[in-house]
Amino acid sequence: MTDIAVTLADKRGTLPAEDKLGFGKIFTDHMFAMDYVEGKGWHNARIVPYGDYDISPAAMVLHYGQAIFEGMKAFRTEDNRIVMYRPMDHLKRFNNSADILTIPRMDIDVVHAGLRQLVELEKHWVPKALGTSLYIRPFVISIDPYVGVKVAEQYTLFIILSPVGAYYASGFKPVKIKVEEHFARAVKGGLGEAKTPANYAASLKASEVAKEEGYTQVLWLDAIEKKYIEEVGTMNIFFKINDEIITPELDGSILNGITRRSVLQVAKSWGMKATERRISIAEVYEAHAKGQLQEVFGSGTAAVISPVGELSWKGKKITINNNQIGETSQKLFDYITGLQQGRVADKFGWVEEVAKL
Ligand SMILES: *Cc1c(COP(=O)(O)O)cnc(C)c1O
Repeated sequence: MTDIAVTLADKRGTLPAEDKLGFGKIFTDHMFAMDYVEGKGWHNARIVPYGDYDISPAAMVLHYGQAIFEGMKAFRTEDNRIVMYRPMDHLKRFNNSADILTIPRMDIDVVHAGLRQLVELEKHWVPKALGTSLYIRPFVISIDPYVGVKVAEQYTLFIILSPVGAYYASGFKPVKIKVEEHFARAVKGGLGEAKTPANYAASLKASEVAKEEGYTQVLWLDAIEKKYIEEVGTMNIFFKINDEIITPELDGSILNGITRRSVLQVAKSWGMKATERRISIAEVYEAHAKGQLQEVFGSGTAAVISPVGELSWKGKKITINNNQIGETSQKLFDYITGLQQGRVADKFGWVEEVAKL
């Protein structure tokens, strides 16, 4: 086990009022960092005060985008324990993203140990109001000062922490989604299965246009035929048709969501039919026409479950479940957030205790 050097911050901040947290704007006092240099490997695991960080204006990440990230959460349970949700699954995916972006794999046991130590140090930053959490953002950037396209030889890994407010501050509500016909985010053989900034850069234009038209996000179709459903901006997508929940299979162009996995496993444990397969937007519209489309919902770490109340495809709008939260969406939301906040027994082994307060 690598020793993690700790440099404490001189001044400590305080957690703002829990109804004023928002998302991703406030950061804790410390961060974790680790360096990689070709020939030496990953080294210098450390916890240091959170703050600005010097990189060269020629740092490769700024020019060629070789970078990856993760997003997971820690929670404060009602009995005042600090827990993380499926951290090792997130770190395994981090290494999968590293492979896709030709970033050297990390020893995730070291990253995990660093993460635990960081969250324990910052435990007073974990908010406790219902729906709030400590958002954990690990990321790796390529830092060689070199303007020329190649695989970098130097990287820095960071983990920063941000206390975040309830995603559904104004209530758990269905959203309106535009089915994207024009823009493409990712294609099989591309970067879609990696959690990498490039996928977000590729999605901004489409989401701006959709927002101007009054939608919350876009639903991506496969980039080639614009027929098969992929995922929503930052979430995987599920359709409940004839009491079966269906989500697009992992085909290399969509993200292997941890919440998606949780939903599939939880639904199956309830005896529901939960299927991963190719599904076209035409099939969804047909099911709606036949009265068989019962629910649509997104899944992701930030929102957990996001019910969809309206879809618009080629100008044709359909309303799902009378724009009401579906029974399965609500049940999954309650169950998964219950697991995360320690109200539901963790029979899957997804919740990892970090500290007691
Ligand atoms: C992070 C992410 C998701 C959701 O994954 P979770 O592990 O459930 O948070 C879905 N799609 C994309 C593009 C993402 O970046």
